[in-house]
Amino acid sequence: MTVLDAPVLVVVDHADGALTAPSAEVLTLARSLTSGGVTAVALTAPDLPALARHGVGEVVVPDLAGLAPEVAAVAAEAVLAAVERTRPAAVLLVSSFAGKEVAARLAAALGSGAIVDATGVEVAEDDGLVVSKTVLQGTWETTCTVTRGLPVVAVKPTSVDAVEAPGAEPAVVDVPVEFSAAAKAVRVVSRTPHPRGGRAPLGEAKVVVVGGRGVDGDFSAVEALADEIGAAVGATRVATDEGWIDHAAQIGQTGVTIAPRLYIGAGVSGAIHHTAGMQAAETIVAVNTDPEAPIFEMADLGIVGDAAQVLPQAVEELRRLRG
Ligand SMILES: Cc1cc2nc3c(=O)[nH]c(=O)nc-3n(C[C@H](O)[C@H](O)[C@H](O)COP(=O)(O)OP(=O)(O)OC[C@H]3O[C@@H](n4cnc5c(N)ncnc54)[C@H](O)[C@@H]3O)c2cc1C
Repeated sequence: MTVLDAPVLVVVDHADGALTAPSAEVLTLARSLTSGGVTAVALTAPDLPALARHGVGEVVVPDLAGLAPEVAAVAAEAVLAAVERTRPAAVLLVSSFAGKEVAARLAAALGSGAIVDATGVEVAEDDGLVVSKTVLQGTWETTCTVTRGLPVVAVKPTSVDAVEAPGAEPAVVDVPVEFSAAAKAVRVVSRTPHPRGGRAPLGEAKVVVVGGRGVDGDFSAVEALADEIGAAVGATRVATDEGWIDHAAQIGQTGVTIAPRLYIGAGVSGAIHHTAGMQAAETIVAVNTDPEAPIFEMADLGIVGDAAQVLPQAVEELRRLRG
């Protein structure tokens, strides 16, 4: 496989001071693309032990001069300073809402191109990057490439399995940044972290258990199965509109788009507005009392039954098998 000679720069995210799982995935992908080493750029205090475990040789820490990294203009200009310092062959980020905006701003500043929601990246014979992504609500698989300037690619969480490649603790390089008036114009006056609970964030989870109208207001069986298998909990719009679960759990056209390895839907009919946000899931399991429910047309495994009975049976069987 062809690899790049120059380093790949990865914008790494942290949550509660720790490197996030999607950033570990992007670092794994970056290592596969280059023989020139992986450099990270961190906009908050870097988690050096985790970066060392993921083979990062150097971490660039831009001086934000007290500005907030949540402001996209601040983040993009800080990453631009890291690009100028590192001269990488490509920049990779996590394809979160924030990551996509930073990717777009960075590419605009560089006069190059950005590809977001990537599910895979390879190096072509001409050293260009061939990027795969699904489009049109997960119905088409495409490949694309940035044809001008430094490629900026935002990679969708769960597209890659994170693999560690332990090395020495990375060197930390502080870089100054000349912020524009636009970046300096926003001041963050307060922050209220969204309560995360113990489960993985929906957009990053490899396994998601979803409840629809069929759970009839009771998410306890969905949550019990999710906790048993280390999954995130999602919902249809009916369930969130009814107030059975927070709106942040809504999957679909007007909610979160997910592409987990495993989707388990309980009491979900499979309406197009919902499936638009989950049909890229690798394996789909559906539990529904109606054998004619549309979700069975896309399910790899369909169980005709009452979710309130089937899910607890699954939990019981899993516990039995684990001894
Ligand atoms: C503009 C627009 C945007 C929308 N955006 C979204 C979106 O982002 N996300 C989204 O989800 N929806 C969205 N919707 C709503 C969407 O069209 C559907 O109404 C919704 O997804 C249906 O949710 P549901 O499957 O929970 O409910 P239903 O369609 O009512 O299906 C409930 C299912 O549960 C089954 N069931 C009943 N009892 C049980 C039981 N005990 N055990 C097992 N199965 C049982 C039934 O057989 C049925 O198939 C949108 C709609 C519009 C108009």
